[in-house]
Amino acid sequence: MANNRLAKLRQALAAAGLEAIVIASPHNRRYLSGFTGSSGTLLITSSDSFLLTDFRYTTQAADQAAGFTIVEHGPKPLANVRELLADRGIRSVGFEQNQVVYSDFAAWRELLGDIELVPSGSIVEEIRMLKDESELAVIQEACQLADAAFTHVQQLIRPGVKENDLALELEMFMRLRGASATSFDTIVASGVRSALPHGVASDKLVEEGDFITFDFGALYNGYCSDLTRTVVVGKPSAKHLEIYNIVLEAQLHALEHIRPGMSGHEADALARDIIAKYGYGDNFGHSTGHGFGVEVHEQPRLARNSTSVLTPGMTVTVEPGIYIPGFGGVRIEDDIVITESGIKILTSSPKELLVLG
Ligand code: ZN
Ligand code: ZN
Repeated sequence: MANNRLAKLRQALAAAGLEAIVIASPHNRRYLSGFTGSSGTLLITSSDSFLLTDFRYTTQAADQAAGFTIVEHGPKPLANVRELLADRGIRSVGFEQNQVVYSDFAAWRELLGDIELVPSGSIVEEIRMLKDESELAVIQEACQLADAAFTHVQQLIRPGVKENDLALELEMFMRLRGASATSFDTIVASGVRSALPHGVASDKLVEEGDFITFDFGALYNGYCSDLTRTVVVGKPSAKHLEIYNIVLEAQLHALEHIRPGMSGHEADALARDIIAKYGYGDNFGHSTGHGFGVEVHEQPRLARNSTSVLTPGMTVTVEPGIYIPGFGGVRIEDDIVITESGIKILTSSPKELLVLG
């Protein structure tokens, strides 16, 4: 797998006129090399692939990073990078301009001396947008784990239970079945808190008449899932039903019509226009979806200002919502992959309004 990714990176480097690139961000490092250690720097040239790490990781790096030459670096990895570049007569090197903090940039420029650091955009993130079959298989498992956790937590939902305890149940369930972590801080937002799109679980007790929004995911073999469902505790009111059904209609409409070749903007409008038609446009303040993979938020975005073109192999979420301050909110989110002919939905939790408690 690593070789295929490196081949794509080398093509992109050539297209950008770059002779080499230095990669230090953990997600891109792991994506390109397979190395899961917490410290390391990649140097990729047109013919060589180096993984520089410290003595703690050299054995692990040799095991995991097939095709890479492992270099145990000195106190400053970029001093070793400079040597490797100078030996090959390379005068400039690309870097991850959206990942490197300014203090590192300044130190690197110093260490590299007369070798020029060239900002290289989001060159690796763009390659990461298109998932291959092996990645899709892992993502499908991460999605199934989230679905199973949601099925599990339903039986625990009743008035008096604490949001934090429901979150812990979701997390335990996924960890016990192979997740290494959650893909982000678990959201369990009940009652008026469900009007907070990012209401991380709190000590609030669930009450009769609450909407509860669950938004969570598994990090499984290095890939994320991201699932949202909203349930109601006790008999739903007319307002509950109205809002829920609008969000559901918007979400289903988007799933039905998203297809390859469409822009992120067009995909966003599929859901947004329906919510706006019912008069709740101002209550849908976030974008319709986002790419996900080794990180839970990746390119492309399904957003008003997104010009990305949806392409087979991209994995994105579809997650419209309506949030009414002082009352509550609804969001429904599935994970999908763009295919040659349309989409495949990777999450499968039911979407008719679950009335629990
Ligand atoms: Zn989510
Ligand atoms: Zn999401």
